[in-house]
Amino acid sequence: MRPVPIPLIDPFDRRVKDLRISITDRCNFRCAYCMPEEGMRWLDRSELLTYEELARIARVCVERFGFEAIRITGGEPLVRAHVVRLIELLSPLGVDIALTTNGVKLPEVAHDLARAGLTRVNISLDSLRRETFLALTRRDELDRVIAGVDAAIDAGLTPVKINAVVMRGINDDEVVDLARFGRDKGVGVRFIEFMPLDAQGEWSHDKVVPSREILERIDAVFPLRREAVPGSGHEQPAERFEYADGGGDVGVIASVTEPFCDNCDRVRITAEGKFRTCLFALEEFDLRSVVRDQSAERPLSDDAVDDLLAAEIARAVGTKWAGHRIGQVDFIRPDRSMSQIGG
Ligand code: SAM
Ligand code: SF4
Repeated sequence: MRPVPIPLIDPFDRRVKDLRISITDRCNFRCAYCMPEEGMRWLDRSELLTYEELARIARVCVERFGFEAIRITGGEPLVRAHVVRLIELLSPLGVDIALTTNGVKLPEVAHDLARAGLTRVNISLDSLRRETFLALTRRDELDRVIAGVDAAIDAGLTPVKINAVVMRGINDDEVVDLARFGRDKGVGVRFIEFMPLDAQGEWSHDKVVPSREILERIDAVFPLRREAVPGSGHEQPAERFEYADGGGDVGVIASVTEPFCDNCDRVRITAEGKFRTCLFALEEFDLRSVVRDQSAERPLSDDAVDDLLAAEIARAVGTKWAGHRIGQVDFIRPDRSMSQIGG
């Protein structure tokens, strides 16, 4: 008989129910706010959790703790082979399954992903100008990413959202154009503040464009309703505002200027199976050794392995802190970049 899920509550009384799974640290882009042009030292394939191992951890989170949402990310998740197979493994869990991608491979796989049970997708698109897109991603793939947005819409992935990281002096003059693009396509755009998680360590406060400023710029052209959509900025990190003319909505993720840690419900697993309770966590819990390193002579039963995984996940959640300290004197950058954690 399946155990009844017991909600996982962290030390600050927040219920943890959203699992972010990174399936690879590799990427076919080199976004300036994420990784250096030459790439990174990639994990060896043998270090990655297999899809079966990932699905097992996800199942334990859902069955034991009632997790409600899973997001697949990376690195670029669609560079790992057979992602459709992973979605097929996760789909029977019956929870919301989302994907964050740079979109360049979506024209090939969006329909297969939707058929396998993917619910929705976030596509990163930071510029609509070819030169700026190239400067930001170091790849001349703007047209394919836009084709990826169209493929996701055509495949019925709902909702399709655009993620745009805004950097001062690079693409901050494009927020209105990106908002217009979202309105025309009927997809929500989420503007994300640049966070100190770039591998190069070039983040600085003056490169962050505050979300309030982004909203003001959009509001001047496409008036927004004054009040945020109820629940946004709470259950979800994006605070959403509807256009007054009914043309959809726009969101801001103000991780730096208005952190939303009080309502955080998420935890993450890196591609090599390290469990993290915050993007900025300094401590990790090794789930790979729990799922993989069973003694050959005396292997544990499946239930016993699930018990061990559940105990380790609960132990990790017991260390979840109140919130990150970006901008405070005691802020310590984690020694992993966004692509190594899974954004
Ligand atoms: N490769 C996929 C993509 O780009 O969508 C998924 C992984 S990426 C690390 C996840 C999200 O993190 C993307 O929306 C990306 O723009 C965002 N991101 C990466 N580095 C960031 C940073 N330093 N600050 C804010 N957002 C960042
Ligand atoms: Fe790759 Fe995504 Fe990082 Fe860009 S943000 S380099 S697409 S992992």
